[in-house]
Amino acid sequence: MTERLNPNDIAKAAALLRAGHLVAFGTETVYGLGADACNADAVAAIYTAKGRPSFNPLICHFADARTAFKYVTPTQLAKTLAAKFWPGPLTLVLPRTPNCPVSLLAGAGLPTLAVRVPAQATALQLLKHFGGPIAAPSANRSGRISPTTAQHVLAALNGRIAAILDSGPCAVGLESTVLDLSGPTPVLLRPGGISLEALEAEIGPIQHATTALHAPASPGMLLSHYAPTLPLRLNATSLAADEALLAFGPPLPGANLLFQLSATKNLAEASARLFEALHLLDAQSPAQGLARIAAMPIPLTGLGLAINDRLTRAAAPRDKM
Ligand code: AMP
Ligand code: MG
Repeated sequence: MTERLNPNDIAKAAALLRAGHLVAFGTETVYGLGADACNADAVAAIYTAKGRPSFNPLICHFADARTAFKYVTPTQLAKTLAAKFWPGPLTLVLPRTPNCPVSLLAGAGLPTLAVRVPAQATALQLLKHFGGPIAAPSANRSGRISPTTAQHVLAALNGRIAAILDSGPCAVGLESTVLDLSGPTPVLLRPGGISLEALEAEIGPIQHATTALHAPASPGMLLSHYAPTLPLRLNATSLAADEALLAFGPPLPGANLLFQLSATKNLAEASARLFEALHLLDAQSPAQGLARIAAMPIPLTGLGLAINDRLTRAAAPRDKM
């Protein structure tokens, strides 16, 4: 059985991690499935619990930028972005330092490492208490909807992990933005909780990753990912009789089951509710005789880029996983 811990149990969670166990914990983005990043066996257990293809590298989480930059070599841009956006939903891909003790498996054998400082009090306390990097992908089964509550994690991983540290629902609700700073120019590998506009305001133009160049290194770029069980249709402007509705703004008429992402079309609110919406519609549709989910259009600006990215992958043909 998976033990349910609360924010008073930080010491216990850290001890479990030190002993090589898996502990899921809340961050501002989504729930992470944590392991001691320097313990290869513990990292291997993450891949097993998630059923994740082993070529997918994991994000390493740190208590602060000073600690993170002992494990990777920061560029000037990295220092600028860390000062501005950490703690926060931004992940930087940088070269590992020569004697970096993080298990090679955590980085899937790459010479780079993805690092981040989360902006969530309980996660930061856990990282401080633990003292080293915690490798943590999203705490779901590989390819499925990301978890934004402890209930989502338990539904997918109960019995497969030692404990979950329940710190309530995630405030941002979307994964971090992943930016590769290891090459000559910055490359966006995954849109996320920090908008492209906000990053470009700090460091100028950012290149978008092309699947051909970056796909093997970045599973957030897999075509089918974040997927509900039911088929998902995007940019719906009308609703079929067998469809549940993912609404954004005034809902389309005729829905028997709907989840409102944001009645006022607020993109931050919609981000925070997106994965909850997919979990819920997926779970409740069959009982209502509904077989599909239709999503209303969401603009491609600000956090809308990341929301559309997740929806597009959730809607992709499943044989492309
Ligand atoms: P997740 O584990 O679900 O939070 O996803 C982590 C994201 O970071 C994925 O899109 C990974 O491919 C990406 N990532 C992690 N490490 C690296 C790396 N060294 N190079 C490129 N992308 C990375
Ligand atoms: Mg994930």
